[in-house]
Amino acid sequence: MKTNRKYVCNLLIVFLTACNFTSSIPRSATTANPTSSLPQQNSAASHGLTGNADIIFTNGVILTMDDANPSAQAIAVQGNQIIAVGTNEEVLKHQGQNTLMVDLQRRTLVPGFIDSHQHRLGDFSAVGYTGLDQVVAPTLAQGWTTLVELYVDQDRLDALRALDQSGRLPFRVNAYLPMNGPWGDSLGDWYKIYHTGQIYSPHVRIAGIKIFMDIRWGQTLHMTQADLNAFIQQRNREKWQLAIHTVGSQTHEMVISAFENAAREDPVSPQRHRIEHVLSITPEQIERMKPLGLIASAQLNMAGELIGDPKLDEFIAREPEGALSPWRNIVDAGVILAGGSDWPNYYVDEPAGAPFGSPARLIFQAVTREGNFGTLPYPGMLDQSITAEQALRALTINGAYAIFQEDSLGSLSVGKLADMVILSDNPLSVETRQLNNITVLMTMVDGKVEYCSPGLEVFCPESPETGLPALPSLAETFTGTWQGADLDDGSEIILTLRQTGNDLTGTFNDVYSGNAQTPGYAGAGSGFLTPSSSAQATFDLRRPDGKTLVIQFVLTLSNQDNTLTLTPEGGKPIVLYRAPISQ
Ligand SMILES: [Zn+2]
Repeated sequence: MKTNRKYVCNLLIVFLTACNFTSSIPRSATTANPTSSLPQQNSAASHGLTGNADIIFTNGVILTMDDANPSAQAIAVQGNQIIAVGTNEEVLKHQGQNTLMVDLQRRTLVPGFIDSHQHRLGDFSAVGYTGLDQVVAPTLAQGWTTLVELYVDQDRLDALRALDQSGRLPFRVNAYLPMNGPWGDSLGDWYKIYHTGQIYSPHVRIAGIKIFMDIRWGQTLHMTQADLNAFIQQRNREKWQLAIHTVGSQTHEMVISAFENAAREDPVSPQRHRIEHVLSITPEQIERMKPLGLIASAQLNMAGELIGDPKLDEFIAREPEGALSPWRNIVDAGVILAGGSDWPNYYVDEPAGAPFGSPARLIFQAVTREGNFGTLPYPGMLDQSITAEQALRALTINGAYAIFQEDSLGSLSVGKLADMVILSDNPLSVETRQLNNITVLMTMVDGKVEYCSPGLEVFCPESPETGLPALPSLAETFTGTWQGADLDDGSEIILTLRQTGNDLTGTFNDVYSGNAQTPGYAGAGSGFLTPSSSAQATFDLRRPDGKTLVIQFVLTLSNQDNTLTLTPEGGKPIVLYRAPISQ
């Protein structure tokens, strides 16, 4: 990788224009992928989970980021879920014959990190990568388990889904779909065929809409107040979450006023709208964000990265005093601060310490407010330092909240998904300079080890499935509710099965959301297990218009990724995911 200041300059130009690159014009809605709505993979909050763990970590310093249970010694994982968090003694109750044990040796274990604003998947070429695959390994090695991607147009969404479907996307991605480009050029209403919270797989979710409100350091605004008011009201009615690129305080004034206007119609907006960058915002404006439930999505490396750029000095001179990157004011006001890197903007190859855009470096920069290559902050910025604990929160539970995923991600709590990271040191107790030297020993996503620091395999349990036969027992394994999208026609399939011995019975529903012209089929069926560990079932289906269909499926179960593949006779396979089991 190249180390030079040329990159800084190139990327600086990008920020001045906006913090993004445009790409091609989206394809028409007719060729785009239709709506599907897979279930949330997990619904948390089910306490007292029972059964043996696949993996238990003991003797650790576990920073759970769960206020109800902030620290622990041990944690147990079963499949992709956390089933116990507590003392060694409490958690060891879940040890069974096949449980893999990891002695953390007092190392620190934290929730998987969430980068709330970045462009690794869309703009990787800015740092010389030639393909999406090159992004994956460094992302996991830094401890990121969820990336929030702020500019996913149709082409990028297609590329992302293709990567996921080929099994090469080992972390979670939340996508914001742009409605305009950095310069305010409209991209049309292509995003309207999607919706907030649309889940394609455990790794791909559509979070909301991205819009650019200003450019040229807040000097050019893309909408009038009246247009923005109308836009926000309309998106509120459509239940979209918005992520609004807002840099200058004048733009903040307009954006916050527009949300205040919308709140008069819908006083308790549940949308958790996000302001991206919040680079210059006054204390008075921050106070107004709180009752509106607005989220401050800030790059913790800002504005240190900009120091030395004359444009920053001009910006500071133009803006109200004390408004620059006020991370502490935001936290103190009780506004949710979600932390991000804006990778690859301002990317440099740091000669030492934690790499650019890594969680360790962002925590270090949030505390010290340093820029790239150790550039010191302006004195006023030091007043706006936050603590390592506040930065850790911004990069975990607050990031999860900002994408409506706090029930399954962001903290180490019973019932949540097993996304976690082992760190070399505890960010809450090391000396400040050492924050920048914290390394990642292991990264786990969805209960699977996805990164293991070379030579430190002692901290990396085998993937829970390896070493076990793929299907240890066929008893009851098909039982449950399975849901997924038929990618050919966009319908949603809900299959409910009961397995008794070698026999299967079930119901099948094929739902076309909001399309009365194409009513779906529904009906019941039965089947049996085959010697090859799959099953066959025949369903008798009927449409509301009276048409009937008898169809035979081959059902193939994968306990490894909790999927059931349904292959209709003469048709393409459809992948279904197991719906949460209600406790
Ligand atoms: Zn950005």
